[in-house]
Amino acid sequence: MVNRADAVKAKEVLLNSSRPVVILSHPNPDGDSVGSTMGLYYLLRDAGKQATPVLPAPVPGIYKFLLGDVAVVNPPADVTGKIAVVLDCSDVRRLAESGQHLQGAGCVINIDHHLHNELFGDINLVDSSAAAVGQILFDLFYPEPIPPPAALALYTALYSDTGRFSYSNTQAKTLATAAKLVELGADPHLVYSHIHGTRSEAYIRFLARVLGDVQLMCNGRVAYLEISRELLAEYALQEWELEELNDYPRSLAGVAVSVVARQGQGDSVKVSLRSKGRWNVAQLARDLGGGGHQNAAGVTLNMPLPQARALLRKRLEEVFALC
Ligand code: AMP
Ligand code: MN
Ligand code: MN
Repeated sequence: MVNRADAVKAKEVLLNSSRPVVILSHPNPDGDSVGSTMGLYYLLRDAGKQATPVLPAPVPGIYKFLLGDVAVVNPPADVTGKIAVVLDCSDVRRLAESGQHLQGAGCVINIDHHLHNELFGDINLVDSSAAAVGQILFDLFYPEPIPPPAALALYTALYSDTGRFSYSNTQAKTLATAAKLVELGADPHLVYSHIHGTRSEAYIRFLARVLGDVQLMCNGRVAYLEISRELLAEYALQEWELEELNDYPRSLAGVAVSVVARQGQGDSVKVSLRSKGRWNVAQLARDLGGGGHQNAAGVTLNMPLPQARALLRKRLEEVFALC
């Protein structure tokens, strides 16, 4: 649960301070970061506040329907003397990855649900049991008026971070909040259509190619998928098109942890970890320098792909040897 006194303070600062608000979130935008950024923006705009939504480029095409004709700013945004709200981001180093800093901000409000948040704000609303930052924002504002565009954006945050209301973070409260947001104007089919009904042909052909190479490790408890730079270039996919790729290896019977290791710029590998039930991939990611949630975490390893593969295999074998 978010600390009640902090929530009161955050709401007071957001709604009653004369300082403008700048809304920031992590690089590689996802449904929760875009949904909560735009949700908070529409809430503040409706309340007559001056707010600027900042989203790292490129904003995935599947989330652009939440932007309407709002002028979104790319980082770095000037936060000097302003209220900087940081959403869905466990530490300031991740902000810095997209060139954003918080120096000189008049007040930093940190709103997050990652397991290990560094509490870098002047006010911290952190609740790792919340399914999405969109949920924390809903709880903060409701029953204040939530205009339809904000309801749509917050619904999208919940829809995305719960894997369409299916992951283990989906609670009765999540579904009740989603129902309320639909009453307030969110259209579930519209959200589905934009996010899951717009796949490119290249993505489907890429899937057919890459899924054939899935490797099983640790006696079938781990499914591992590797994507080279060459393969990505061959299919000319956008980074965000790979967001749900991990759902396929994770869906295998007997698999507890799935890994997608994608070669990035230079000697870097972006590792996406997903798990089922009690398997805590946040700890595994954290040990390697990243972070995340119990069932969804990530880390960027600065090393060549074969070395990253060997390191991941070793760590996973250690985890499963203990069981
Ligand atoms: P991804 O696999 O990139 O979709 O990330 C899964 C979860 O892990 C998300 O909640 C991310 O915010 C988090 N995450 C990914 N990479 C990192 C990182 N380098 N440091 C901290 N958290 C991360
Ligand atoms: Mn996120
Ligand atoms: Mn989130």
